Amino acid sequence: MRITFILIVLFLLVFLLLPGVALGANPPPYGPDLMEHLCTPDPTYSLKEGEFLLPILLYHLVGREAQERNGRSISRFNVTATDFEAQLALLQRLGYHSVTVSEVAAALEGTTTLPERPIVLTFDDGWREQYEVAFPLLQRYGMRATFFVTTSYIGYSRFMTWEELAELRDAGMEIASHGRKHLNLADADDKEAWREIARSKGALEEKLGISVVSFAYPYGAYRKGLPAMLERAGYRIAVGVGGTPVHRLGGRYYLRRMEVSGFHSLRAFVDRLPWRGAGSPLCASEMGSGGRVSLIPAILP
Ligand SMILES: [Zn+2]
Repeated sequence: MRITFILIVLFLLVFLLLPGVALGANPPPYGPDLMEHLCTPDPTYSLKEGEFLLPILLYHLVGREAQERNGRSISRFNVTATDFEAQLALLQRLGYHSVTVSEVAAALEGTTTLPERPIVLTFDDGWREQYEVAFPLLQRYGMRATFFVTTSYIGYSRFMTWEELAELRDAGMEIASHGRKHLNLADADDKEAWREIARSKGALEEKLGISVVSFAYPYGAYRKGLPAMLERAGYRIAVGVGGTPVHRLGGRYYLRRMEVSGFHSLRAFVDRLPWRGAGSPLCASEMGSGGRVSLIPAILP
C-alpha cells in the first residue's frame, strides 16, 4: 500500500515536474510585450524586381564607459556591452546567421550562397572597444563581423593596434577599409579620393597579409565616380548608410547599412529586422516552424 503510494507520487512527480524542468531550462527570455512583438508575422516589403533583403547593421562604439551613465548609453554612437550582448543573443534565438561583407560580394557575384536569415554586422573607424568589448561577445555567440578600419588611426590610443587587428583576422573576422584619413569622399577630388581608396587597401593588405575587397564610405558620403574608382582599386563591394534592409542587385558599390543607435531599446532593434520570430524556435509554438530561404540565392541567376 505504502509502496504503491510512493510509486504514484513518484509517477506524478516525474510527469508534473519534468516538463517544468524542461521549460525552466529554456524559459521565455523576454517579457510578454516583446515576445508578442517578436512572434508577429514578419514585416512585408514590396520588393521591386532586382531588389533583395539583407540587414546590414552598423556599429561604432560598444561599451565605452565614458559615454555611459548608470548603465545606459548617453550617445547614439555607443551601444552598451549589455545591450550589444542582448542584440546578439536575440539574433541567435531568431535563427540569424552572421556573414561578412565580402561573403555578400561573393553571393552577389554568384559564386556562393548565403545561409538562411543572413545578417551582416559591421563596425566602423577601428575603435579600441571593438576589440576589447565587441570581439569577445561576437566570439561567445559564434558570430563574425566586418571591421572597417581607418588606417591612419591604427595604433593611436583610442583605436585598435595592428596586433589586435591581426587577432580579429585570425578569428575569422573580415578587416576592410574605411579610408586612410576618414575624408568625406563626396568633397574630395579624384586624386585625393584615389589615395584614400587605394592606399588604405594597400596598407591593410601589406600589414595583415589579407586581400581587402570591401569598403565603407566615411560618413556614408557618396558621389559619382567613386564606384568606378573602387572597382579599379580591386574592391568588389562598398557600404554606406540608410535606414533599410532593401538593396538593389546592381547596387553593390553602395549597400545601405542600418545604424544601431545607443538609444535603441531591444524592441526598436527588432523593428528594423526583416525576419522576426516566425519560424524560429523562439516562437515555434505560436507560429510553427516553416523555415525560410534567403532571397539572395533565390534571385541570383
Ligand atoms: Zn567612420
